[in-house]
Amino acid sequence: MERKLDQTQALIEAERCLYCYDAPCEKACPAHVPVPEFIQSIRSGNLKGARELISLANPSIEVCGEVCPEEQFCQSVCTRTKIDTPIKIRELHKFVTDNVKLKDLELDLPPLNGRKVAIIGGGPAGLACARELRRFGVKSVIFEKKELGGIPVQEISKERLSDEISRSEAKQILELFNAEVRDKKITSINELHGEFDAVFISTGLTEELELDVKGVNLQNVYTARKLLKTIKSGMKTGLGKRVGVIGGGNVAVEVAAALKREDPSRDVEVVYRRGLKELRAFRDEIEEALELGVAFQFLAIPLEIKGTEKVEGLLCRRARLGETDSSGRRTFEEVPNSDFFIPFDTIVIAIGQKPSDIFSELEKTNNGLIKTNEDLETSMKGVFAGGDIVRGASTIVESVADGKKAAQSILKYLEGGKNV
Ligand code: SF4
Repeated sequence: MERKLDQTQALIEAERCLYCYDAPCEKACPAHVPVPEFIQSIRSGNLKGARELISLANPSIEVCGEVCPEEQFCQSVCTRTKIDTPIKIRELHKFVTDNVKLKDLELDLPPLNGRKVAIIGGGPAGLACARELRRFGVKSVIFEKKELGGIPVQEISKERLSDEISRSEAKQILELFNAEVRDKKITSINELHGEFDAVFISTGLTEELELDVKGVNLQNVYTARKLLKTIKSGMKTGLGKRVGVIGGGNVAVEVAAALKREDPSRDVEVVYRRGLKELRAFRDEIEEALELGVAFQFLAIPLEIKGTEKVEGLLCRRARLGETDSSGRRTFEEVPNSDFFIPFDTIVIAIGQKPSDIFSELEKTNNGLIKTNEDLETSMKGVFAGGDIVRGASTIVESVADGKKAAQSILKYLEGGKNV
């Protein structure tokens, strides 16, 4: 899907901006990118100034320029919608970052002040926190066992987000803001005692939710994120010709599209309990999957994966939608006597992620997420957390916002002179 604006298109788009006072788009962006200001800079031909404004607000802006769900955030409230169509905000900041790189900016960093913060997890939240801390003279050590960059680097398909963009942005943040990376898995705060003044946990959700139906142990049943990592690494999955993907979120749609792309002759069908409106995937991902030929089986509740040794298909029961629940989504109920069978040779389970069972010293929610207060401080003094490990599955820009917010809370905490 082409997402690139050329100079003329960018200028036309910038001219359409109404430069609202108290701009709703800026408020709706979790990272508070100053949208009218950077668009004004584009209009006046000051792309470097635009880049400075965008980068200051959002350290992962090159990644967000490609995959941010703007229709869920900034663009959904654009005043221009009342006249014709919303401003293409994401495309505009992509236009800026395509033309001015982070390394082209003059960074005026203060000297290090001797404080050191441990960041556990090198995804968008961890990188944003490291960048923000360094802007105020604090050094970070990022503990990351996998490749730096988190989900954008490890899981989002190359067709949606090129390696060049995701890797180079993570590397530039690291190099330009002097963070250090250590290849070590940290599972308890005790492991960090003595060396650090504060800790930020941004490990994300590392485990996949298991589907509680008969047949999940059959051959050819896979989990989605492992497959996404395999595809992203350039290896072939070697999966069958008729694949059922169980789930209704971004990961389900992403893996379905990736498997179809890998082998266009393969039939891929997403099986979901609710309807199209309830699908919790981004609109452009759904459109892309449909364009690729991914099929959707809506209102289907998986009952059992059938087969003797290998998968032979999925037994489902028809669902119908009910009332709207407190989360704003329609509930669903089973339709009696409506069981049906879909033949598949492979099943992929993509029903969500959960945190791994680590950091037992910290207070958690019933879902195993880390509990924090408004400042993202956990139940342990000097230990902060953010991103998916606090919110549950969320977006890159929300994780970035948490990383920035945690850094500000850490700076306040360090002013108090307390150590972990
Ligand atoms: S980062 Fe995302 S939400 Fe924020 S302005 Fe850019 S596209 Fe909109």
